[in-house]
Amino acid sequence: MPSERTALAEREGFPLVVELALPAWVNQVIGNGGDRFDTVEERMGLVVRLARANVEHGTGGPFAAAIFDREGGLVSAGVNQVMASNIPVAHAEIIAIAIAGSRLGSFDLGAQGASALVTSTEPCAMCLGAVPWSGVTGLVCGARDEDARAIGFEEGAKPPDWELGLTLRGIEVTRDVLREEAAAVLRLYVERGGVIYNAGQARPL
Ligand SMILES: [Zn+2]
Repeated sequence: MPSERTALAEREGFPLVVELALPAWVNQVIGNGGDRFDTVEERMGLVVRLARANVEHGTGGPFAAAIFDREGGLVSAGVNQVMASNIPVAHAEIIAIAIAGSRLGSFDLGAQGASALVTSTEPCAMCLGAVPWSGVTGLVCGARDEDARAIGFEEGAKPPDWELGLTLRGIEVTRDVLREEAAAVLRLYVERGGVIYNAGQARPL
């Protein structure tokens, strides 16, 4: 007897694949991807440029992330694609982690040389949970989560001591890197009439 899950999967036309692609302009921002980013400010600078471009191109929310190896080489990048993809979990960090794993051929990014996840805004509850599972040994944040909440985005139920929780797992957390530049992208999104797309808003509490 096939399981219910198998039966569903075998039904004609039942989807077995999901596509999650970044906008083509990302390659224009990144170039050939071979640059070295020696400082955390340089790495965050690239991530903030990606977040700003996502707003300017109208291709998603005002968030970007990237993963760098220990030498400052770019491993992967992500920009928010929740609305464009209709994939509720398509946050920038999740996409960057997914592409890095695929590119490195490993589910443990740290073991393959990736060292830091750099994100334009402090991770939401979901992305925070993904950080240790990714294997990276560093998290670098730009804007604070209160900057995101200030324009209406939810960050979810994060433990108040989330930074300590990562540190205890051996993940170095660096906050407020180019915070003002990253927060300015959040404000730009609002000025341009960007949709604050938290799911579940229509549901009564
Ligand atoms: Zn997130």
